[in-house]
Amino acid sequence: MPPTRRPTIPVHIARIQIGGGAPVVVQSMTNTDTADIEGTVRQVKSLARAGSELVRVTVNTAEAAAAVAPIRDRLAQMGVEVPLVGDFHFNGHKLLREHPACAEALAKYRINPGNVGRGSKRDPQFAEMIEIACRHDKPVRIGVNWGSLDQDLLTRMMDENSRQAEPLDANDVLREALVVSALDSAQRAEELGLAHERIIISAKVSGVQDLIAVYRNLAARCEYPLHLGLTEAGMGSKGIVASTAGMAVLLQEGIGDTIRVSLTPEPDGDRTQEVIVAQEMLQTMGLRAFTPMVIACPGCGRTTSTYFQQLAQKIQTHIRQRMPEWRRHHPGVEDMTVAVMGCVVNGPGESKHASIGISLPGTGERPVAPVYIDGEKGPTLKGEHIAEEFQQLVEDYIARRYARRPAAQENTA
Ligand code: SF4
Repeated sequence: MPPTRRPTIPVHIARIQIGGGAPVVVQSMTNTDTADIEGTVRQVKSLARAGSELVRVTVNTAEAAAAVAPIRDRLAQMGVEVPLVGDFHFNGHKLLREHPACAEALAKYRINPGNVGRGSKRDPQFAEMIEIACRHDKPVRIGVNWGSLDQDLLTRMMDENSRQAEPLDANDVLREALVVSALDSAQRAEELGLAHERIIISAKVSGVQDLIAVYRNLAARCEYPLHLGLTEAGMGSKGIVASTAGMAVLLQEGIGDTIRVSLTPEPDGDRTQEVIVAQEMLQTMGLRAFTPMVIACPGCGRTTSTYFQQLAQKIQTHIRQRMPEWRRHHPGVEDMTVAVMGCVVNGPGESKHASIGISLPGTGERPVAPVYIDGEKGPTLKGEHIAEEFQQLVEDYIARRYARRPAAQENTA
């Protein structure tokens, strides 16, 4: 059973609902220079196509701010309606003031209370951003980050702690400062006129145990929807494992209304990986379904070659490539499972549990590959073209089981 979600006040961003019992929303962020309109449009489009439901862009210069509305317009012309979130640090008040088209084009602003200005400038600059958000009726994420925590607040809390008879550990004070910074900033935003239901909160850290402790604390102390993510998660498997280890614990407790997996891409790597990891995290936990899941055995001494690994990869790639079209024409296809197994030991059993599965021949077995469809024995494949034939069987299954909706219905969907 999926966990009961923590009750929150929903926030609406264009057609997306965050919190209030809505499915957990997947977000991503571009790494292009936002002033590069073509490059940013390309990357937003690919992130949206991969399934990112919100895409955040850096807004750090006048050129970047001036590019936001053209980026939004270009995407709309291409039929990409994904809401854009502006990420502001240090000069957000000025950029939003001087670029009203940017303020209007963005669907949400991310404000980091630790980076809105130093000393006496902090409060008025924060206030100006909130007032602009109110004027344009935009929701705001109060996004605290441990690498840029409000130093005045932290120093004050550390000093107060040191005067206690039994002072807390410095790390506990740091965790509490993150929570206080987020909640105080949200309260200040409400005092400035931003509606409660226009606020989302995040408090990102780079350690798994810190993430769990901070978000449990936040969840217990407010009803704002929470944006979950491990900041600076890292590269490759480390980034994926750390993000999943932290977020899965919280999601299982019903904490988290929108997530981002902050992976460092490999040089020239594909930015959409962070979207796929976020989706797979939610799908393997049974919280949402995005795309048919491929179940493949790890292989062992019984597998005769890497053939079954290649088949599993081929099927996985085929599904990802076909999904945008399947999603439009075959509703429910995301719930399907496809098994690709390496031998007779677990092959037939696992294949029978899947919507459609194939059990390839292991060492010493007859060179045939039985296919199982909805638990029943189907055709047996053999010869050179098992991969292509199995792919076709998957296509036929989808066309039959998730029948194409009539055109009239599609137009109104
Ligand atoms: S299904 Fe067969 S090939 Fe795959 S891991 Fe199990 S024993 Fe090995």
